[in-house]
Amino acid sequence: MKNLRYLDDVSSLVLDRDLCIGCGLCTQVCPQEVFEMEENKASIVDFNACMECGACVNNCPSGALQVSPGVG
Ligand code: SF4
Ligand code: SF4
Repeated sequence: MKNLRYLDDVSSLVLDRDLCIGCGLCTQVCPQEVFEMEENKASIVDFNACMECGACVNNCPSGALQVSPGVG
């Protein structure tokens, strides 16, 4: 699914790195490879690939991620 693209600069995805505990789950569940781990914290490396599916938010144990499906 990585090659599916959405509109640029419209995703409602927000990552609060201060809350991230570095579990890496978001990198595993995101079908669009939006995240990579950097210095033991998640980092958004392909923001415009996000399709607001909510999988990362639903799996993040620390509330570091937010998205409003259908907004973008
Ligand atoms: S909402 Fe879905 S596509 Fe967007 S970053 Fe999270 S898991 Fe990936
Ligand atoms: S799922 Fe949440 S806590 Fe885990 S690496 Fe991603 S943002 Fe950080």
